[in-house]
Amino acid sequence: MSNIVAIVGRPNVGKSTLYNRLTESRKAIVDDFSGVTRDRHYGLAEWLNHNFTVIDTGGYVANSDDVFEAAIREQVDIAIEEATVVLFVVDVTTGITDLDDEIASRLRKSKKPVFVVVNKLDNNNQVADAMVFYSLGLGEIFTISSMTGSGTGELLDEVVKHFEDEDPEENTRPKYAIVGRPNVGKSSIINALLGKDRNIVTPIAGTTRDSIHIHYNQYGHDFMLVDTAGLRKKTKVKENIEFYSVMRTIKALEEADVVILMIDAVEGFESQDISIFHLAEKNKKGIVIVVNKWDLIEKNSKTIKVFEEQIRDKIAPFTDVPIVFTSVTEKQRVLKVIDVANQVYENRARKIPTSKLNEVMLPIIENYPPPAIKGKYVKIKYITQIAGTSPMFAFFCNLPQYVKEPYYRFIENKLREHFDFSGAPVQVWFRQK
Ligand code: GDP
Ligand code: GDP
Repeated sequence: MSNIVAIVGRPNVGKSTLYNRLTESRKAIVDDFSGVTRDRHYGLAEWLNHNFTVIDTGGYVANSDDVFEAAIREQVDIAIEEATVVLFVVDVTTGITDLDDEIASRLRKSKKPVFVVVNKLDNNNQVADAMVFYSLGLGEIFTISSMTGSGTGELLDEVVKHFEDEDPEENTRPKYAIVGRPNVGKSSIINALLGKDRNIVTPIAGTTRDSIHIHYNQYGHDFMLVDTAGLRKKTKVKENIEFYSVMRTIKALEEADVVILMIDAVEGFESQDISIFHLAEKNKKGIVIVVNKWDLIEKNSKTIKVFEEQIRDKIAPFTDVPIVFTSVTEKQRVLKVIDVANQVYENRARKIPTSKLNEVMLPIIENYPPPAIKGKYVKIKYITQIAGTSPMFAFFCNLPQYVKEPYYRFIENKLREHFDFSGAPVQVWFRQK
């Protein structure tokens, strides 16, 4: 499922408009994350039952002119390396520019699938103008209007054909990814965990996706670490450090069962952290938040509580997530992080027997049924957990369409109160019966 679609191209061709269009279908599910939508350049999209991550490289462009073209060139190279599919967006109203040509020549060397997306075809008269883009030498062209959405369906039909399947022989050990912004302490915690005795470690270069999986087997723990920190690549353009790190983060995140999101206690929990959190949540990964460099904070008896509340405010409504305060340099609570990740792994895999579910939940529902709408009453008959990698519950009832969002929350909270799903996203469905 680790499929990434990267949108590349020079400025103003419509990359971010396309990005918005591809990711918007997901908005149907509660997507009211206050204050973070503004600067998000990567998100989940869905087409024909494929979930994939879309990244808009345009969000990472430098401000000053001289580094700007170099930055774009390098982003194209990174996109080729890291993405499953590259969408090269060009603009029918301007034709081919020098920068388009240059991007195309880099893309021609790519072994990854590249799609030429001719944008801004708002009406059929422009079809003839689009033909010139065949001369880019990248094969078939796809004509779309990001503004109206026309043509994007045909494009996605082709794109998903190039997706990689989940590796069937993949290791069955839990996989944990330590992610976070640069400098929060990811390398330090990995080194602390692995210690000096590197014999216990077997780095297995990821087969198809070239990420590093480290096998950790010590003190009764047996899991794989999906490493992003160790793979920091040199980049010539400083602005691309963030782009590169986001790319790696998304990949590691998609491969992991549990995401260990590390933040710097001094810097706090910021919009980028919130974006990573929501990406993990939408991907239905287990989540542990680690507040590192706790040694640098002046503390009193309330400090932890205040910190926790601030973070929970920012990650609402999914607040049932463990938060661990560490100092890697002082060796404080490093192993606790792993204990908690194991716990979250178990919570995410937890299966509740149908009888137990009904025994616990039906009386709760009886006492507090969904509010009647237009005189119609929703009757919930029974509940069952749906098979899957994360907890999902189906509530069978007569009128599922009358159950509104607040009741979903109520049910989720009750499930969390009675069963331990800490750190695991829980999905609730009401189904016709
Ligand atoms: P980016 O810099 O490549 O991310 O480009 P933007 O998505 O910001 O779009 C640049 C401009 O082109 C904006 O004014 C968009 O409204 C416009 N635009 C994007 N897609 C279309 C389209 O399909 N048709 C038309 N007519 N304009 C578009
Ligand atoms: P990464 O970029 O996330 O891999 O971060 P690093 O592990 O390279 O750490 C960045 C810097 O933070 C290094 O100088 C570390 O020594 C320092 N650092 C890491 N953990 C802690 C901590 O718990 N406390 C303090 N004071 N510094 C830390």
